[in-house]
Amino acid sequence: MYEIIHEPPRQTPVAYDCDVCVVGGSCTGVFAALSAARLGARVAIIENMGFFGGTATASKVCVWHTNMDTAYETQIFAGLTMELIERLKSRDCVIDKGPNPYAQFVFLPDEMSIELDQMLVEAGVRPFLHTRFVGCVKSDEGQVEAVLIEDKSGRRAIKASVFIDATGDADLVYQMGLPTRKADQLQPPTTCALIQGVKTLTDDTQQFMREHVFDPKYPNALPKGHLWTASIPGEDIIMVAGTRVYGADCSDADELTQAEIEGRRQVRAIVDILRQQPGGEAVKLHGIASRIGIRETRHAICEYQLTEQDVLYGETFDDAIMNGSYSVDIHLPNEDGMVFRFLNGEQKTVMANGERIFGRWREAIDNMPTYYQMPYRTLIPKGTKNVLVAGRCVDADPGAFGAIRVMVNANQMGQAVGTAAYLALNADQRVNEIDTNKLRNTLSGSGALML
Ligand SMILES: Cc1cc2nc3c(=O)[nH]c(=O)nc-3n(C[C@H](O)[C@H](O)[C@H](O)COP(=O)(O)OP(=O)(O)OC[C@H]3O[C@@H](n4cnc5c(N)ncnc54)[C@H](O)[C@@H]3O)c2cc1C
Repeated sequence: MYEIIHEPPRQTPVAYDCDVCVVGGSCTGVFAALSAARLGARVAIIENMGFFGGTATASKVCVWHTNMDTAYETQIFAGLTMELIERLKSRDCVIDKGPNPYAQFVFLPDEMSIELDQMLVEAGVRPFLHTRFVGCVKSDEGQVEAVLIEDKSGRRAIKASVFIDATGDADLVYQMGLPTRKADQLQPPTTCALIQGVKTLTDDTQQFMREHVFDPKYPNALPKGHLWTASIPGEDIIMVAGTRVYGADCSDADELTQAEIEGRRQVRAIVDILRQQPGGEAVKLHGIASRIGIRETRHAICEYQLTEQDVLYGETFDDAIMNGSYSVDIHLPNEDGMVFRFLNGEQKTVMANGERIFGRWREAIDNMPTYYQMPYRTLIPKGTKNVLVAGRCVDADPGAFGAIRVMVNANQMGQAVGTAAYLALNADQRVNEIDTNKLRNTLSGSGALML
């Protein structure tokens, strides 16, 4: 238990009074803000870091999955995700590897954060950077009236009619006192790094690193987990995601601090082990994530919980706002390896050393699904009137979460909640009362694909 001190009551200035306030500025939050603003709402977006992009930029996870179904025959999403990719392609900072089950688009994270600035400025969204959401003010009916922020200027408030929780950690829903849930075992966080000089050691950087960094003959070997790499456009640099901080709950401030330090320690161990290999003297740490990559913390309890069955059997929904084809992908919470479950019934476990164990989670069926959907209801926290969630903190069971957590899926949720916020505002309705046909039509009208 903590000792408690009582702060004196304070008067908090209102920094902005607007229509829609988005908390959290990854692409999920930015796409929510852009969607509402392009439809005509006055929008604020609050981001803790000094730049937008969240895990894609701050944590250097610079890989997005395909926009095709698993048969590579039907395009399943477009909208703001593809608009951003096209803008980045015009700056020659995306590698498009074509449809494949793991990664199609690899981009330069810093270019992405600048592009997100530009898009927000063009849409007239008011940005609040280096700004932390710390609490909210509710009406007697439980409606959020304002969020409290802390920034260089002190403590301020932003008033709005509709709020969007895109914090990844469901911080707003939690501060509202609404129920949230954590999985019994959270998928572990990973500190990513940009490492130079590995490509000169080997043609297969991923397997080479897997064989060395987990090898217990090195005293600083990493705890066994899973390592993958991505080539950065135009450079002898790879993005390496190989560290794991088991047991860390990054929604707890003290555990987050320890996880950051442990993640960086593991990055140094990777570099040092590589430098011990023949020819490895040229290996250098080129850059490190500004924030540990957080896979999972809290989930909001929403009007519908998406299940692994929904995903793997390709359930469709009348109020679908997202289409995905990425597999169920679970980083085991405290063990070597990770598990993939695919829509075609196959299952694959990849161990730390790269060994693959193939099997099936079910036999082949007629009418094999090639994509899955998420209903709008999964983005409405139970008990709210004017708050929506999007991103990794939505309501999904552990299997469904393993699939929907990837960014191309979170991006679509962002676009959907921004659009829904505008519709609720425009019709003077609660977020759970809006006409979902109209939501889907409006999303189509702004370039999203509604299947
Ligand atoms: C190591 C790793 C590898 C991954 N690999 C891939 C991959 O290859 N491809 C893929 O698509 N997905 C991948 N994922 C999953 C994916 O990156 C995440 O699930 C996704 O980015 C989550 O998006 P989000 O918007 O919900 O949360 P986040 O990206 O975490 O964004 C939340 C944002 O809110 C801000 N924020 C949080 N709290 C506050 C607050 N109180 N006040 C103000 N701002 C706040 C944060 O600073 C952040 O910018 C990976 C994840 C990890 C960790």
